Amino acid sequence: MASLFDTRRYLTDFDSVRIGHVLTDTLVIGSGVAGARAAIEAAQYGLVTLLTKSDFEESCTSYAQGGIAVAIGADDSPTLHYQDTMRVGCGLNRPDAVNLLVTEAPRRIEELIGWGLEPDRVDGALSLGREGGHSVNRIIHAGGDHTGRDLTRTLKRRVQDTPEIRVFEHCFLVDFITLDGLCVGAVAFHERHGHQLIWAGQTVIASGGCGRIWRETTNPPVATGDGIAAAFRAGATLRDMEMMQFHPTTLYVAGAGRTLISEAVRGEGAYLVDRTGDRFMENYHPDGELAPRDIVSRAIHDCLLTTQSNCVYLDVRHMSGFRERFPQIASLCADFDIDVTRDLIPVRPSAHYLIGGVEVELDGSTSVEGLFCCGEAAGTGVHGANRIASNSLLEGLVFGKLAGETAGRKAAEMSNAAPIRRVVNTNPHSTRTALDLPDIRNSLRSVMWRNVGIVRREEHLRETCDILDFWAHYTLDKVFDDVPGWETQNELTVARLIAASALERSESIGVHCRGDADERKQTPPCRVVVTRDENGTHPKCVELRTETSSDTGGDD
Ligand SMILES: Cc1cc2nc3c(=O)[nH]c(=O)nc-3n(C[C@H](O)[C@H](O)[C@H](O)COP(=O)(O)OP(=O)(O)OC[C@H]3O[C@@H](n4cnc5c(N)ncnc54)[C@H](O)[C@@H]3O)c2cc1C
Repeated sequence: MASLFDTRRYLTDFDSVRIGHVLTDTLVIGSGVAGARAAIEAAQYGLVTLLTKSDFEESCTSYAQGGIAVAIGADDSPTLHYQDTMRVGCGLNRPDAVNLLVTEAPRRIEELIGWGLEPDRVDGALSLGREGGHSVNRIIHAGGDHTGRDLTRTLKRRVQDTPEIRVFEHCFLVDFITLDGLCVGAVAFHERHGHQLIWAGQTVIASGGCGRIWRETTNPPVATGDGIAAAFRAGATLRDMEMMQFHPTTLYVAGAGRTLISEAVRGEGAYLVDRTGDRFMENYHPDGELAPRDIVSRAIHDCLLTTQSNCVYLDVRHMSGFRERFPQIASLCADFDIDVTRDLIPVRPSAHYLIGGVEVELDGSTSVEGLFCCGEAAGTGVHGANRIASNSLLEGLVFGKLAGETAGRKAAEMSNAAPIRRVVNTNPHSTRTALDLPDIRNSLRSVMWRNVGIVRREEHLRETCDILDFWAHYTLDKVFDDVPGWETQNELTVARLIAASALERSESIGVHCRGDADERKQTPPCRVVVTRDENGTHPKCVELRTETSSDTGGDD
């Protein structure tokens, strides 16, 4: 049986003499915080084309509630922010990346305010919230719990005010084009114009994560891992793919989706209680409800098993001013007849944030020349084995800027921005029966939730790899001509890489919990990487690489 890793180099057929061409200096994939920030920076050096597969606003960024971490309080410092980030990341973080993140943070926030973001204030001073793992209040927020919406509006305005940036909405990245190992742009599919070849001097992936491959997730439908899967097909090295963060508290009401109930709610005093009304977090961690996310998620997972329940509850009834501080959450609860002043809010964990992704250097460069990556799609190593709350919007701002700057500058230095030549790809077409794609995608979500969820075991991970290989056998040999088909192929690819990486890491660390780990075994700090062979067709390996001091080099 063909393995998933025999995935084709390109998902689609194309011939450059038959489809439309677009030329640009820098191509950016994604309109979330990382893509928008990268585009704004790259535009200082030349023409930028930004693709996004839905409306500009449709991204994880837009749904962010809690806020952005930044060390600006009187009792705070970048050193403290650094220490909290490293502690929560279990020390597996890349120190120089963390250092960059926390020291750049105040400048990036100041810049946003200059561009029109209006964070919430108390008596004129920035209002700083608290979230799990942070030792002080350092989370700025906007519109109460509408931080993502306000951030997106600010960045969109800035993008629209930058004439060097062209935005193509409803334009889907299918694959990156490589010629002799160099990325020269992408083949994309536009809702109205069909296939397009976008020739770019440099290309930046900012296509976000892949939460949609789990049954329970906070992520919107766009988060299907397309950019990561396409980078893998183009030969890029991936890292930390087993590190998926599960958010402890999403609303558990049939029909509500799995809408996030921000950690800031616990930060401001909400309790977690079981079905009998008992607060249980104190049994798991001295910080109780404010323990790091992985600990709270596992505690809830444990509580659900021991109390044989489907959910636990957030108790906010004692909190005054809840509706003013969290208008979005209060209104959502009201839509389902939950009165936050009288009722408990039913919650359970969901897949939330992919820590791993395309392995990058600090400037966003990947192992493929001409290809950069930033934001949630990137594996910078900045989060280690567990992301501390509200560091990801910040990551998008800091590393998006760096990736955009390096890509833009490199594109400007190229004498001839894009080496145009004829490129053709023709895949063999399968004669098998048509597929019920929604059924495959639902089955994928179920198996990932059941077997590659909060607690993992070797036998379940092996079973998952076999199941995914079986489905891949008759799904990846198809040539689709629409977005759902390509998304399904990308989801299967990314899920298989996650399951294989989770199998490779037999220890429990941070968000990766192996129920069958031998706790006596001491594993040296390492990362799981996925690489492909020289032809870019088969995986060379999924392997554990021990961190050397140069990998994790630098100090705080
Ligand atoms: C509900 C929720 C709440 C959160 N709250 C917070 C918070 O308070 N603070 C915090 O720091 N983090 C929070 N996070 C995490 C944070 O929002 C994300 O990690 C961050 O926004 C990722 O930014 P990004 O730019 O990398 O990706 P995204 O914002 O997800 O953007 C990805 C973009 O790529 C586009 N795209 C994807 N595939 C393709 C394709 N094939 N072709 C073209 N375009 C494509 C998408 O349409 C989208 O525009 C939250 C996440 C969620 C889901």
